Amino acid sequence: ATPTALMVGTGRGAQLGILIKGPEVLETTRKVDTIVLDKTGTVTTGRMTLRTVHTADGEDPAEVLRLAGALEHASEHPIAQAVASGAADKVGALPTPEDFANIPGLGVQGVVDGHAVIVGREKLLAMGAPPGPELVGGPWGRAIHLPAGLERAKAEAEAAGRTAIAVAWDGKARAILEVADAVKETSPEAVRRLRALGLTPILLTGDNTAVAHSVAREVGIDEVIAEVMPQDKVDVVKRLQAEGRSVAMVGDGVNDAAALAQADLGLAMGTGTDAAIEAGDLTLVRGDLRAAADAIRLSRKTLGTIK
Ligand code: ADP
Ligand code: MG
Repeated sequence: ATPTALMVGTGRGAQLGILIKGPEVLETTRKVDTIVLDKTGTVTTGRMTLRTVHTADGEDPAEVLRLAGALEHASEHPIAQAVASGAADKVGALPTPEDFANIPGLGVQGVVDGHAVIVGREKLLAMGAPPGPELVGGPWGRAIHLPAGLERAKAEAEAAGRTAIAVAWDGKARAILEVADAVKETSPEAVRRLRALGLTPILLTGDNTAVAHSVAREVGIDEVIAEVMPQDKVDVVKRLQAEGRSVAMVGDGVNDAAALAQADLGLAMGTGTDAAIEAGDLTLVRGDLRAAADAIRLSRKTLGTIK
C-alpha cells in the first residue's frame, strides 16, 4: 500500500465522520457480504419514551409509576431511562430503592418501599428467582404470570411496534408499560445504500420479535433475528460466519461489544458506549448509519487506488 493513498482515504473518512483503527481494516471491507445491524441505538434513535400505562384491575397507575420508576432510575438502559423520566414527570419525586439488581437483556429487580419489585420482560417475571446471585432468597422465588388483560395489552402494544415492559411486585403482575423509540430518519436510506454495495442487512435485537419486524419493515430489512440475549449476540455472528458469510456488524451498546469484536468488520456508533467503540474496527462518529455505507464504499475505493 502506498501511504499517500491511505492518507487520502482516511482524511476523507475523517471529513465524513468515519474513524478507522488501522490500514488493515480496509482489506476486510472488500469481502464483507452481510451486515448485522443492532436495533436499539443503531437503527433507532435509542431515545425511548414512555407512552402508555396499562394497569391490571384495581391497580393505581401512579403507584405503578412510582415503584417502577424508582427501580429503573438506578439503571442506564434506554428503556429504564424512559420509564424513570416518564414516571418522574407524572408522579414527581421517586423513592430510592433499598436493593437493586440489573439483569442484562431482561430487566431490573429490587426492593422499593419494602416491596419486591420486578420491571422487565415477561420472561423475567416467569423466571421467579433472578438468574444472578444478588437477590436470591429474599422475597422472590415464584413464577409470576400476566393476567389475561395485561397479556392482551402486551400483544397489542407489540403488534403496534412498541416494547411492552411488565411491572410486578410482591408476587403479582400489576401493569404493562408501553415504551417506544423512533427509527432514525437516515436509516431507510442507509439500508438502501448498504444493499447497493451488495450487502445483505440483518436486524439483530434482544427486543421482541413483533417489535423487531415492525422496525425492519420500516427501514427495508427482510431478515430479523430477535429475542437474542446480550451474551448470545456474538454466537449469531459466529453462526453466520460458519455459514460461509463474511460479516460486518454495526452496534452501539455494551451488549454489542463481543459481537463487534467477532465480526469480520466491526462498526461502532460514535454516539454509543466506550465498550462498543473499543471493540470496533471503525467508528461512525455522528451515529448516522449512512456512514456505515460511506465507510465501506470509501475503503473499497481507497484500496482500488492503492492496488
Ligand atoms: P437491544 O438488543 O435492542 O439493544 P437489550 O438486549 O438491551 O436490547 O434488551 C432486550 C430487552 O430486555 C428489551 O427490549 C426489554 O424488553 C428488556 N429489558 C432490558 N433491560 C431492561 C430494563 N432496564 N427495564 C425494562 N426492560 C428491560
Ligand atoms: Mg443497542
